[in-house]
Amino acid sequence: MRYLVLTDIHANLEALEAVLADAPHYDAVLCLGDLVGYGPNPNECVACVLDLNGLVCLVGNHDLAALGELDLAGFNSIARSAARWTDSALAPAVRTFLAGLAPRLDRPEYVLAHGSPREPIWEYLENAAQGPENFDAFDGALCLVGHTHVPRVFTRDIGGNGPPTVRGVLHGDRLQLSKSHRYIVNPGGVGQPRDGNPRAAYALWDAVAGEIAFRRVSYDIPRTQAKILAAGLPKFLAERLRQGV
Ligand code: ZN
Repeated sequence: MRYLVLTDIHANLEALEAVLADAPHYDAVLCLGDLVGYGPNPNECVACVLDLNGLVCLVGNHDLAALGELDLAGFNSIARSAARWTDSALAPAVRTFLAGLAPRLDRPEYVLAHGSPREPIWEYLENAAQGPENFDAFDGALCLVGHTHVPRVFTRDIGGNGPPTVRGVLHGDRLQLSKSHRYIVNPGGVGQPRDGNPRAAYALWDAVAGEIAFRRVSYDIPRTQAKILAAGLPKFLAERLRQGV
């Protein structure tokens, strides 16, 4: 079984289409939430994701904000204004789809969480100090997360001895999953990367080979930027795509 792992598409259709064109063969898709918010094509991105084979999908904080199901007080002013714009743009069928999703899903083969296993809606999983309690918050060997838009791997030995380690990952990096360790893996964001590399990020998990491959792909950033400005969304949301922040 080969899984395409996507997260934080953020209504960026050019980035999503570039990822789908770049991805080698896969059997199923794991989408970890924040399909909408920030970007100019929320309905088109959700329609595109819904077309994918074997889709398993979470809801993220920006999806919930656009549905009016999250207090916008936790958002900065730019995110807040993007959430309001998205709320007004969402098609009824897209709202219904997003409203039916959960922020965390436990399956025998994997756990999916938008933010973190212990706090799937809000926690930004960034450093090793957050590791122990999060590894304690799920069973099994692998949890896939999104939310930070930064590709990272957290590793802990199976006995829970010693502190977890965390490292960033780059295009072309591969993680060989060892039976003696457990992992929390973030593939990085499709539609708004934040690690200084503007290329869309995603991962491919080959569950038979026990390997996760991290990939980056270029897309037509000027086209997305033009759409953001034409929609009247905050200018910074266009600028940050070029910088990857
Ligand atoms: Zn996000």
